[in-house]
Amino acid sequence: MRVNRRGVAMLATLISVLACSPADEPTPPAAGQSAADRRAGAPGIGDPDFPRDGNGGYDVSHYDLVVDYTPATKRLDGVATISASATQELSSFNLDLTGLDVREVAVNDAPATFTRKGEELTVRPARAIADEAPFTVKVTYTGQPKPASDNANLGTYGFIPTPDGAFVASEPNGSKTWFPGNDHPADKATFDFTITVPAGVTALANGEMTGQPTTSGGKTTYRWRERHPMATYLATATLGKFDLRQGSTAAGIPNLAAADPRFKSSLDSLHTLSGQITDYWATVFGPYPFSSTGGVVDDYSAGYALENQTKPLYGGFQPDETIIAHELAHQWFGNSLTIRRWKDLWLNEGFATYAEWLWAEHKGTKTAEATFKELQSRPATDPMWKYPPGRARPDDLFNQSVYTRGGMTLHALRRAIGDPAFFTLLKTWTAEHRYGHVTTGQFVALAERLSGKNLDALFDAWLLQPRKPS
Ligand SMILES: [Zn+2]
Repeated sequence: MRVNRRGVAMLATLISVLACSPADEPTPPAAGQSAADRRAGAPGIGDPDFPRDGNGGYDVSHYDLVVDYTPATKRLDGVATISASATQELSSFNLDLTGLDVREVAVNDAPATFTRKGEELTVRPARAIADEAPFTVKVTYTGQPKPASDNANLGTYGFIPTPDGAFVASEPNGSKTWFPGNDHPADKATFDFTITVPAGVTALANGEMTGQPTTSGGKTTYRWRERHPMATYLATATLGKFDLRQGSTAAGIPNLAAADPRFKSSLDSLHTLSGQITDYWATVFGPYPFSSTGGVVDDYSAGYALENQTKPLYGGFQPDETIIAHELAHQWFGNSLTIRRWKDLWLNEGFATYAEWLWAEHKGTKTAEATFKELQSRPATDPMWKYPPGRARPDDLFNQSVYTRGGMTLHALRRAIGDPAFFTLLKTWTAEHRYGHVTTGQFVALAERLSGKNLDALFDAWLLQPRKPS
């Protein structure tokens, strides 16, 4: 994710409005449980900073999402079929879902009972699920999706209705605004999308289209498949009037750009730059991890862009090459390699910010060294030095330090170990953890292994100390 500078003023206003939302969140159950409860899946996946995000007791492998949406009424009818495996015996388990009415839940095709509380949908199958057993849960639901908003996340996110469709950008935990699931990056899965919209509306989801759209009765159905594992916050079904430009990058990766008619003039440059940048990053970061690339410009003024897998989404502005370089770098850092805990967000944002500097270096406009020196000249009183980027805070997750000081951490590392080791490290990192999960500790260990140096002091000063590194 990156804030678009022109959007900052608007966001600052929005944040001041949102900052006073009431804290009426239910408390998760305590650890002491009755014998019967011990078989209940936990209501959170175990991220101490986001205790109710995701769920425990199972691991999702696939989401099959069937969604019908009508912009005029803002009504969504959905059927989510989730394939998962139990990681404990389960008398019940939770899914994350906010708003929307649940009509029916079935587990392994048998009707199941369910309850709602806050953002938790608790499902009780007719028979307990055995530890390690695969199972499917099918949820039929309906209603008008309401986007999420809070001051930690720079405004409004999730499924955001627009006059001609919807703008869908869900970081960090907004997928629950439009489909039930295990809404935390620690549980990635593949996705199929079947999206039905009024004829004339285009549906853009992750991955590639499987077959041509079909139209009947004034409605068109689009089918998309993301066959590589994906975090829920990267799932999208962005809907609306779009002009499309399709093709391939020079290296042969399918490339789809889409722009709302208001941004039609951005379409060619978005398509060209997305192709060039995807190919260039493959030479720096290692092979492109997914089956297609591109980007989407919608006319909703989000004030930010999000790196939705295979289709970064730009909210209401013409993206320049810097922000495209940022969002496409995330396809490696964040999307293929995914954080287990939000506190490690610098592994996404520090890397994507550093990628902006590497792109400028590649284009010959400014070296990363020059950018680093400029930032390092900021006085010790600059707020960036107070916020340790290696410990992203839930109440200020997307703090500028996570981006800028995170990027500076990588440049300090490059200085310490030299260019050959540094660029080998980037490629080894993406190769060893392709499609997997990562932690800061793993990155530090790999940097030390490849460089043969003890880097504890460097990472401690740059990532963990609330002061300017000397
Ligand atoms: Zn970002």
